[in-house]
Amino acid sequence: MKILGIEHIGIATDNLDKDAPFWKLLLNNCEHISEEVKEQNVITEIFDTGRGKIELLEATSPESPIAKFIEKRGKGIHHICLEIDDIQQAINELIEAGVELIDKTPRIGIEGYMIVFIHPRSTGGVLVELAEKPEN
Ligand code: ZN
Repeated sequence: MKILGIEHIGIATDNLDKDAPFWKLLLNNCEHISEEVKEQNVITEIFDTGRGKIELLEATSPESPIAKFIEKRGKGIHHICLEIDDIQQAINELIEAGVELIDKTPRIGIEGYMIVFIHPRSTGGVLVELAEKPEN
C-alpha cells in the first residue's frame, strides 16, 4: 500500500452557518465546494488548499455519525484522511496486520472517492480514513 498524502482533515460542526465563515475567510483563495452525503446524513463544506483539504461536516439527522461524535466529544477535529493508491490492497494489508477496520469493504464517500475507516482503537484514538481517488 502506498500513501499519496493527506487528502483532508474532517472537522465536526453543529452549525455550518456559524463555523464556515471563519474557514471561508482563512481559505479565501481555495477552491470551495458544498456537498450533501445522504447515506451518512451529513452536509459538507470542502476547501481545497491544493495540498490537503479542510472538510467541515454538519449532521442532517441525529442518526448521523457526526451528531453522535459531537454528543460524545464535542465539535472539532473528527478524522484525518490519507489518500492511498489502492484501497483494496490497503484493506488486505491492514487486516493481515491485525488492524481493526470499521468497514471491511470500500464504500463510496464524498467526491466519489472509495473509502474505509480505521477504528480509533487501533490508531491511538484518532479516526483515520483512507481514500482512493475515483480516476485511479
Ligand atoms: Zn473524510
